Amino acid sequence: MDPISTDQSARRPAAGTLGLRVDDMRRLGYRMVDLVVDRMTRRRDEPAIRTGTPADLFRRLGGPVPEQPGDADTALDLLVSVALSHQQNGDHPRYFARVPGPSSFTGILGDWISTGFNSMAASWAGGSGPATVELVVIDWLRDLLGFPEGTEGVFVSGGSLANLTALAAIRAARGPGVAYMSDQTHASLVRDLLALGFNDDQVRVLPADDGFGLPVADVEAAILADRAAGREPLVVIGTAGTTNTGTVDPLNGLAELCEQQDLWFHVDGAYGAPAAMTETGRAALAGMDRAHSLVLDPHKWLFQPYDAGIVLMRQPSILSDAFAITPEYLKDVKAAAGEVDFRDRGLELTRRARALKLWLTFRIHGAARIRAAVQHGITLAEVAEAQLRAHPEKWEVVSPAQLGIVCFALRDADPAEHEQRAAALADSGYACVSTTVLKGRTVFRLCIINPLTNEEDIHGTLDRLSGAGS
Ligand SMILES: *Cc1c(COP(=O)(O)O)cnc(C)c1O
Repeated sequence: MDPISTDQSARRPAAGTLGLRVDDMRRLGYRMVDLVVDRMTRRRDEPAIRTGTPADLFRRLGGPVPEQPGDADTALDLLVSVALSHQQNGDHPRYFARVPGPSSFTGILGDWISTGFNSMAASWAGGSGPATVELVVIDWLRDLLGFPEGTEGVFVSGGSLANLTALAAIRAARGPGVAYMSDQTHASLVRDLLALGFNDDQVRVLPADDGFGLPVADVEAAILADRAAGREPLVVIGTAGTTNTGTVDPLNGLAELCEQQDLWFHVDGAYGAPAAMTETGRAALAGMDRAHSLVLDPHKWLFQPYDAGIVLMRQPSILSDAFAITPEYLKDVKAAAGEVDFRDRGLELTRRARALKLWLTFRIHGAARIRAAVQHGITLAEVAEAQLRAHPEKWEVVSPAQLGIVCFALRDADPAEHEQRAAALADSGYACVSTTVLKGRTVFRLCIINPLTNEEDIHGTLDRLSGAGS
């Protein structure tokens, strides 16, 4: 087949491979491709989630340090059959819990190739090619999300670190002050602020309104009260699609308030920002493009494998003003304009080239197909809502379909009943849904962003949750 595998030199360990033979490198690599493609194509037949117990998993995966070489296939088999079979299959068509991870194969390819080439995206000198890819992808996203030319950005590991990076840069630019958000803001934001040294008086978590949005008038009142008390308001955090309900804060109103009050407007679009690629999403997210800074998570709704989060900054140099370091041993001669050292845009120095996978996904599928896949999720959540509303004797819609998320409750059932049914469904392997608490009430929550999911999946899941199909 492959001429290299019959070459005698392939049977000897290759230099720098810790003793692995070249033909084994190829064979194991091809095996891994088969394992991954088989899993992807058979997803529907696998359980949506499987969780192990510590005793069992440690017994099978642990043990003393392996001092001597072991059989490669056996080790790979063990990893696949034990470790990787006990996890959420976030790309399963009926994985609706938390935020699914419907990763595309093109994204996986991009991650593989950047890992395989050990790409580094810290500096122009250390990786001008990968740095250019990152600049290109950031520019594509800026364009798709309606941000002006000159907007800068950086890839990090996810939404938590992206918000942390943005907030650190905002404080460096503007000085210390108070941050405003709603109680529907993702929990990692408060953690980010406290980790950055904001004190309790500088973190204002305001109650959301009946529709789970941040009331602009309440933010304004809090800002004025803080000013009167001698505190310095700094930043308003709007969420572009809350994780709980998909609700979009009144972004235009918050943007206006920030303009009037001269505050920074930060938008956490970790969940929902990619929806702005679609017409319906753009309408729902009106005002997001007025943010001074925006966070999005390609490992959620841009079909990328873990991990990838992005910060976009409308005003150039905000990130590098906060993070640039140039010790003697990192001094590179700058030859031309446009050379970017990504280590200067965040807290990671050595960093993987996360943009490669997104570049490959966009080049191979095109934005139109990605946009259609995002729209599919928005539409299916509306289908789920319609299926629920068709049976008012069974169901109550607690929060309507918004950006792929719908929350609902059984009529006449207590919180424990909701939790038990969600747990039983996950145990069955058929589907995985979340429960959450809205206005003090435990409800079911579906997050529907997988292009593989169809109406039948929704129907089967609702049937089982209602007790009919179990
Ligand atoms: C998921 C999420 C986060 C956290 O992102 P990670 O990638 O999990 O770190 C922050 N904000 C929102 C709105 C999210 O949905």
